[in-house]
Amino acid sequence: MTCPHITRGAGGTACPMAASSATSARVTASCAGACFVRMREGEQVVLTTYGRSSGFCIDPIEKKPLNHFLPGSAVLSFGTAGCNLACKFCQNWDISKSQDMDRLMDQASPQQIALAAENSGCASVAFTYNDPVIFAEYAIDTAIACRERGIRTVAVTSGYIHAEPRREFFAVMDAANVDLKAFTDDFYFKLTGAHLQPVLDTLIYLHHETDVWTEITTLLIPDYNDSNWEIEALCAWVLKELGADVPLHFTAFHPDFKMLETPPTPPATLRRARQIALAQGLHYVYTGNVHDPEGGTTFCPGCGEPLIERDWHRILHYRVTAEGRCPQCHTAIAGRFDQHAGAFGQRRIPLRLNPQS
Ligand code: SF4
Repeated sequence: MTCPHITRGAGGTACPMAASSATSARVTASCAGACFVRMREGEQVVLTTYGRSSGFCIDPIEKKPLNHFLPGSAVLSFGTAGCNLACKFCQNWDISKSQDMDRLMDQASPQQIALAAENSGCASVAFTYNDPVIFAEYAIDTAIACRERGIRTVAVTSGYIHAEPRREFFAVMDAANVDLKAFTDDFYFKLTGAHLQPVLDTLIYLHHETDVWTEITTLLIPDYNDSNWEIEALCAWVLKELGADVPLHFTAFHPDFKMLETPPTPPATLRRARQIALAQGLHYVYTGNVHDPEGGTTFCPGCGEPLIERDWHRILHYRVTAEGRCPQCHTAIAGRFDQHAGAFGQRRIPLRLNPQS
């Protein structure tokens, strides 16, 4: 079921929160949705954060994380407030759980964002920090403005979105990193308030019905989703449904929000997960949020040659050819590559688009 009342400007779209009829009913029955940022105004539900941001920042694309999409390039990143999930481990909870619009420090129109990306040498704009599904109208309009300037767009999302707005949302995206937070519905329901199957549906949709370059991230949390059998099941599903070439990132949890008592993920857990995924046959498997030279390297699936060596978010050596192939055995490397790698490094440059706001 979709929410028929959502509006942006003169247009309308389905409520992207409505991954289930229960969620949709909750939105229409009260003044504010569970996300805090979709409000009932008269007979309509409106997005209250349109045009406002929790801040803009230029990041390396590897930070999203995307390792096979314009490697080394700079990406203009921003988020808003609110979220359609309720992750107890959220590492951006100060904005995703914010009901306080004072958190929104900056404001910019879609056209201003596209121009700022162009002027600052960014190859893409990323909708991130909180789930862009919750500010879909703003993200879609910004993506359209970016396309007019040749700037690409990236959605960093949990993929929990109804089929109808999913089509509209991803039709204007060039790349996505989708969180596959675990491989049990029990985890999803108890720790995020969501469900697993809609996320799997989004991954299948992206891979089989769009040209959106897609990578997957799984945050491994000790004793919650890091058992061998669960990692094996997750990897087997990725291989069967999406194929061996979809990059998979295992990243480290650190205690945050409502899970302060849970210890950080040991680096050995990430390395174990990576070995399981490689043994299952996945070609591109990474570890994240830790220093791990091997887990940060892209290897050729044909001959095993290291092709992109990274330290954290910085590229140390880049050997992919201008045609996107291994220089040694000529195997095509999955992804979207420019002729050369970018040289942005691992800087983080905050940007103020409207100093008056
Ligand atoms: S989906 Fe992401 S931003 Fe939203 S609550 Fe979960 S971890 Fe936080």
